[in-house]
Amino acid sequence: MTKKITVTDTILRDAHQSLLATRMRTEDMLPICDKLDKVGYWSLEVWGGATFDACVRFLKEDPWERLRKLKAALPNTRLQMLLRGQNLLGYRHYSDDVVRAFVAKAAVNGIDVFRIFDAMNDVRNLRVSIEAVKAAGKHAQGTICYTTSPVHTIDAFVTQAKVMADMGVDSIAIKDMAGLLTPYATGELVAALKDALPLEVVVHSHDTAGVASMCQLKAIENGADRIDTAISSMAWGTSHPGTESMVAALRGTPYDTGLDLELIQEIGLYFYAVRKKYHQFESEFTGVDTRVQVNQVPGGMISNLANQLKEQGALNRMDEVLAEIPKVRADLGYPPLVTPTSQIVGTQAFFNVLAGERYKTITNEVKLYLQGRYGRAPGQVDEKLRRQAIGSEDVIDVRPADLLKPELAKLRGEIGALAKSEEDVLTYAMFPDIGRKFLEEREAGTLTPETLLPIPSGNGVAAPGGEGVPTEFVIDVHGETYRVDITGVGIKGEGKRHFYLSIDGMPEEVVFEPLNEFVGGSGAGKRKQASAPGDVSTTMPGNIVDVLVKEGDAVKAGQAVLITEAMKMETEVQAPIAGTVKAVHVAKGDRVNPGEVLIEIA
Ligand code: MN
Repeated sequence: MTKKITVTDTILRDAHQSLLATRMRTEDMLPICDKLDKVGYWSLEVWGGATFDACVRFLKEDPWERLRKLKAALPNTRLQMLLRGQNLLGYRHYSDDVVRAFVAKAAVNGIDVFRIFDAMNDVRNLRVSIEAVKAAGKHAQGTICYTTSPVHTIDAFVTQAKVMADMGVDSIAIKDMAGLLTPYATGELVAALKDALPLEVVVHSHDTAGVASMCQLKAIENGADRIDTAISSMAWGTSHPGTESMVAALRGTPYDTGLDLELIQEIGLYFYAVRKKYHQFESEFTGVDTRVQVNQVPGGMISNLANQLKEQGALNRMDEVLAEIPKVRADLGYPPLVTPTSQIVGTQAFFNVLAGERYKTITNEVKLYLQGRYGRAPGQVDEKLRRQAIGSEDVIDVRPADLLKPELAKLRGEIGALAKSEEDVLTYAMFPDIGRKFLEEREAGTLTPETLLPIPSGNGVAAPGGEGVPTEFVIDVHGETYRVDITGVGIKGEGKRHFYLSIDGMPEEVVFEPLNEFVGGSGAGKRKQASAPGDVSTTMPGNIVDVLVKEGDAVKAGQAVLITEAMKMETEVQAPIAGTVKAVHVAKGDRVNPGEVLIEIA
């Protein structure tokens, strides 16, 4: 029997999301599209929540424009996206009219295949997007978020797949976002799914624990139809099995992919060079890490968590946070760890560790989760924790979006003339703060991508502009001598300064915020340390989202007085004592540090 295995390559989405914090720019994708289009992939994964977010937040690219350019450059290959069901690409449930509008626009702009998942595997949250994909005449792929727990049995996964099949999906994906699958478990699950359903089965498995290619082989032997891979120069580790490796492994067997290995190798060399450009985003956890088999933290989450911990000077607490994550997960009824539940569980674990006491601070997202507002938990949640978090408030048991009124018209009104198209409205809908900022900057003509650090080697390229005579240094680092020129220190808007740094002739623009101005502007670092019982402070560095009280207000102990944001999660900060607000030292948007007095109550 011969059965050709088809391939989805993740190089333009999940590979750089897993290894380079999702920072690859369109300019590095387009030059290789001609070759990618000739490979004969079943599809190329190109779009998802994190790619959209990174475009708008860091790269200052219009993600819709990227999609249209890729579509034009890849006319012969299906383009695929990852969609978070009723959450679309954002972090909350959207009303059904927004879901339908988003899917329709994604289809028009170039998406052919929608891989649709719900973080809780609550199929009620998939229904509307599946309907919308079918209405657009596109391929709907129903997704099982793979995880292990006492409630995640093979029978439970097969039941879920059958419900998705009844909803009209065209294929089933096993999404192993954390690299939790083991080869024999994969074989068993694939065989059970193929036995129960006439649909194609695709395996998406991260190689974090070093076993993903074995899982794919076992999947193939048990009837899987397709595998997700990544071009080898951006494969392995928290990414996927290398495309060339899998093509070579299956060549000349009944499962031959038929793909041109030499052509893929050329593409591999191209991305080898591209990866260097983004070296500053390389995760410190790129090798084989079997801890995932214990803590279940997905690859993307590890690299993002590490980046965020590093920013906050707390990378040394990583192991403690990884140990706390499975405990929080059990308390919440074993949700799979994938956006947004990975952030919800990860951030709560982080608070539990940093506060030195479990659930001393409970994030707003955990409260909403415990109210049922993300969907049905796979297992039992800890009732004591639920009562502590939500008090006497109701728990909902309907599909969360059933409680939402149509909101597209309202969103359109909110963003107003800044939106030049329905796509712009949807950008704002997905990411209200950074989406609005992006559209404002576009209007003002000030969109500027984040600066990349120089590649640490070079060969005499001239510095790009800059005024004045370069200041030259010769420095010795570990016995190597480097010639360093610095040119053109100047002001670059919003108190930022910049200069050109060239090491051995390799130039790079460096933009920085002088510390004194930063501190003066935000107030961070100037506030005194909390000491009185009525001093309100936080346990995490973060930003003030809202100030809920003003001077002179009477407050009760435990009343929410501030909302802060750290690591994309919002948290209420409560009054430590009852009394009167004597002073408020923060405003919306301020950056704050742990231990500072933000509000005084006496
Ligand atoms: Mn993935």
